[in-house]
Formats: sequence, structure tokens, C-alpha cells
Amino acid sequence: MVAAGICGTDLRGYQGRPGPVQGPACGHEFVGVVASVGRDVRTVRPGQPVVAPFMFSDGDCVQCVRGMQSSCQNGGMWGVAAGGGQADGVRVPFADGTLLPVPLDEHDERVPAVLTLADVMATGHHAIHASAGRKPATVAVVGDGAVGLCAVLAAQRAGIERIFLIGHHEMRLRIGHKFGATDLVSAQGAEGWTQVIEATGGAGADLVVEAVGEQGAMDTAMAVCADGGAISTVGGPHGVLDSMACFLRNVTVTGGLAPARAYLPALLDDVVAGRLDPSPIFDHTVQLACVDSGYQAMVDRQATKVLITL
Ligand SMILES: [Zn+2]
Repeated sequence: MVAAGICGTDLRGYQGRPGPVQGPACGHEFVGVVASVGRDVRTVRPGQPVVAPFMFSDGDCVQCVRGMQSSCQNGGMWGVAAGGGQADGVRVPFADGTLLPVPLDEHDERVPAVLTLADVMATGHHAIHASAGRKPATVAVVGDGAVGLCAVLAAQRAGIERIFLIGHHEMRLRIGHKFGATDLVSAQGAEGWTQVIEATGGAGADLVVEAVGEQGAMDTAMAVCADGGAISTVGGPHGVLDSMACFLRNVTVTGGLAPARAYLPALLDDVVAGRLDPSPIFDHTVQLACVDSGYQAMVDRQATKVLITL
């Protein structure tokens, strides 16, 4: 392992809230150097830096071939169905279907940017591109955590003109502004909703990215979405969207668990070429031996996202 990340999902277990049971090693975002390979492995070799998406996948089942590696018939989640990445090392099932070689030195300054592709940037990208409809003119991102910020960056890269970021942390909103958010909405509840509705001439946003998962965020998403628009849920929903309201207002529900492996090659090219740098989301670094302090910093909202090094 060279670098790993702490995800909001990891915090659920840390705080004893419901979520995937992990352990003894958890963590599903990591960049490492291949130590050794099994005899059938073809695409990676020892000594090579690699990045893994947040789930492993065989690469050749019917779902993987369709580009839905997150639904791989033999795949699973790190720290749940396999070891986790917040460790000295991890055994990678289906290395060919899972890993992607990184054409950079392991000490390269772009490694943190590569690490974001494992989950949050791939998820942010998915949030914007999962909707098959016409390109939205306005996007509202609900949530200023790492995924929300990456969705802002993805929207900016997609050439979307007006990007609202709804969040409550000044430090994170600043990163969002840097990533291309044109309108920062920090007012809570209905006051914030009104700002988005009024700024869009009463219509609401064409595409709303729900990047939190809690009921309040889903309510906000419904409130600021235009009739005929779409809500892209990438926060890992723990609440519900009102299906009758979606029906009556012609709101499409899209997004979902991102097939990160499908997006990795193109996003990695962009990072290596210097066209994409989501690394500003990492505002706190800890060593693996002190990983607990990284979790605590995220729980205490002292950190947006924590980078773990060995
Ligand atoms: Zn598969």
C-alpha cells in the first residue's frame, strides 16, 4: 500500500452506525505497488504501481462485460468480502479485472489525485454521467463532502454552465468554488431550497446530485429538482424518495452504485495528463499507524477527507 483514503462509509462502522460490517482491515480506496502475482495474472506485474476501484470484479462476467462492474457476479467490497486497503498490504482477487496499472512513480505528486479515482471522483463522475438524457444546463449538488465536491468537478468538466453547491462547511464550499461551483448555497433547509428555485427562474435544477444519503438531503434533492428533471443518488441512500411525487413531477431517479472500474481508464488518463486534479479534497494526512486520529478528524469535521500514508 502506498496511499489509502478514509471514506464516509468507513465512518459508519467507526461510529457504530449501521453499514457494511468490516474488519479486521477496512478501507476501499487504495493505491499500491504490486508485491507478487498469481500465475494466471496477465495485466499487472510485481513492482508496478496500481489503483483499485472500491469494489473488486472479475472483468469477464455478463455484468462486467456490460460495464456494470459494481454488479459483478463474483465481485465484492474490500473489507467485507476481501481484505481492506487501510493496511500494509492487501490480497486482490481477480487482479486482471480489478486493478489498473498507474504509469507514475509511486512517489509522484499525482498519487493522491489517482487515489480519488478509486471511489469519490469515479462516483462524482457517475453522478453527472449516469443520466442518459440531454445535457443539463443546471446542476445542484446536495452535500459538500468529498463525493459532492467531486460531482461539482465532474459537472464543470462536462461543461455545465450553472452549478449550485448546497452545503454548510465554509472550508468545503471554498473547495467547491475552486472546482467550478458557480453558486454556493449555505442556508439551511427551505431557505436554501428557495435560493436555488429563485435563481433558476422558479424551475429548479435540471439535474440534482444527492451526495449525502440521509433523509434531509433527499428531501432537499426533491425540493430543488425541476419537474421533468433528474435526481442522481450517489450518497448511498438511507432515506427514501417519494415515488408518487417523482411520478407526478416527471422526476427521473438515476445514479446508483458507481461502476468505478468502468470509468477508471479514462479518468486515470486525465489525471496523468494533468487535466484532472481532485486532490484538494484531501485536507488531512495521517500515517497508517495513527489511522484512528484520521477517523476522529473526519467525525469531528476537522477534515473533509483523510489521506493515509504508510
Ligand atoms: Zn464480473
